[in-house]
Amino acid sequence: MTEMKEMKEMKENLFYKRTNAWDALSDAQIKQSKVFNEDYKKFLDISKTEREFVFNTLDVIGKLGFISLKDAYENKQTLQPGDKVYLESNSKTIALAIIGKQPLTEGINMVGSHIDSPRLDLKPLPLYEDNDLAMLKTHYYGGIKKFHWVATPLSIHGVIIKKDGEKVEINIGEEENDPVFVISDILPHLAKDQYAKNLREAIPAENLNVIIGSVPISDEDGADKVKLTVMKLLNEKYGIVEKDFINAEIEIVPSVKAKDVGIDRGLIGAYGHDDRICSYTGLKALLNAGLCSKTTLLYLSDKEEIGSVGNTGAQSDFLEYFVSLIYSLTTEKSNDLDIKDIMYKSVMLSGDVNAAFDPNHKGAFESNNSTYLGRGVGIMKYTGSGGKGGASDASSELMYKITKLMDDNEIIWQIGELGKVDQGGGGTIAKFAAKLGIEVVDVGIPLLNMHAPFELASKVDIYMCYLCFKVFFESL
Ligand code: MN
Ligand code: MN
Repeated sequence: MTEMKEMKEMKENLFYKRTNAWDALSDAQIKQSKVFNEDYKKFLDISKTEREFVFNTLDVIGKLGFISLKDAYENKQTLQPGDKVYLESNSKTIALAIIGKQPLTEGINMVGSHIDSPRLDLKPLPLYEDNDLAMLKTHYYGGIKKFHWVATPLSIHGVIIKKDGEKVEINIGEEENDPVFVISDILPHLAKDQYAKNLREAIPAENLNVIIGSVPISDEDGADKVKLTVMKLLNEKYGIVEKDFINAEIEIVPSVKAKDVGIDRGLIGAYGHDDRICSYTGLKALLNAGLCSKTTLLYLSDKEEIGSVGNTGAQSDFLEYFVSLIYSLTTEKSNDLDIKDIMYKSVMLSGDVNAAFDPNHKGAFESNNSTYLGRGVGIMKYTGSGGKGGASDASSELMYKITKLMDDNEIIWQIGELGKVDQGGGGTIAKFAAKLGIEVVDVGIPLLNMHAPFELASKVDIYMCYLCFKVFFESL
């Protein structure tokens, strides 16, 4: 008996053990997690595009005394500890900071994530008619499995600039009585040719055409009578003409709302968890941490799903610009070397989702190094594919700092990597932060169904991720 007890103790002392957060958290914490997640679901439902996420973030921080850094710069304002600032670019990316008690030259505690999600974009000239149906041509954005997007209700979100320069917001398919849109798929009875193809090719990209209308305009002869109905309705509602689609960014997204999943309501199913889940938890963490010792910063980037490219992606110098602006307003003499130094002294948690171990697809995972739903916030030392290609590999020193911080604050966390080696792979914005000298590690929430129209996350993992970011901001 004694020996058995000793062995048990030895195991407890020597082995790494994953903890299920539902088991470990107190009833009060689980209650807090539920409240937190109710707000998250609401925010997600109104933030289905990067523009909407930026808009809603501005709405939240507008009430909390955040000031535009551009205005502060123009007014030659000096920033004091506790001052809250933001910089937004092209309505698609935004960074927020709360000036800390220590000088900026001590470094910044940053959380970086992305607010774009895989979707279908409309082509510049999307509208056409085919056999009495009006259709919209799309160009998919990010890594989607195309067969997920057919025969499922879709909504239309975006902006169009009209001839007179007015910007029109489009949002159809979200309200209870709104119509939705759909891409047709071939019935199984006639799917012989489709079944013969592999999954990747079963739905060709050029077949991702969305049905937008079917009623021909009356009292009209000639072709394109359904297309004319659609254009007439769009013109009546938004004042647009077909040419205006050229000056537009319109996204086709699932019209599904965020829902509790499971009879015990432990999971949230939604479109766009990746990566609004880390963006939202980061936002709440920054706001609730408030004035900290170091300056705290949240960077919500765009275009991550297509490689963080463009002037709103994490490869742009937006983050550096943001930090430079802050620095210039907190010091007498700002110089480039100081700014580099600030970057090298800063730490970023790159908040992004990870693949949760999937009981239906065990073969894609290596169970020792997977993250699991419900076992807390995931820490990924590196991402990448193959032989760590394209990875930002966090140092052991940083891993120690972050995991110790989580343990000291009783935050349930788990280590993992993205599936089996050579099974695939992926990246985050971590490597672009690392390029600036920032110490960075990937931290985020395990998902099932990643990049599908209905992604799944565990409520306790979401709450742990929020606490992880908050404790990180509050720490030295
Ligand atoms: Mn992501
Ligand atoms: Mn993604």
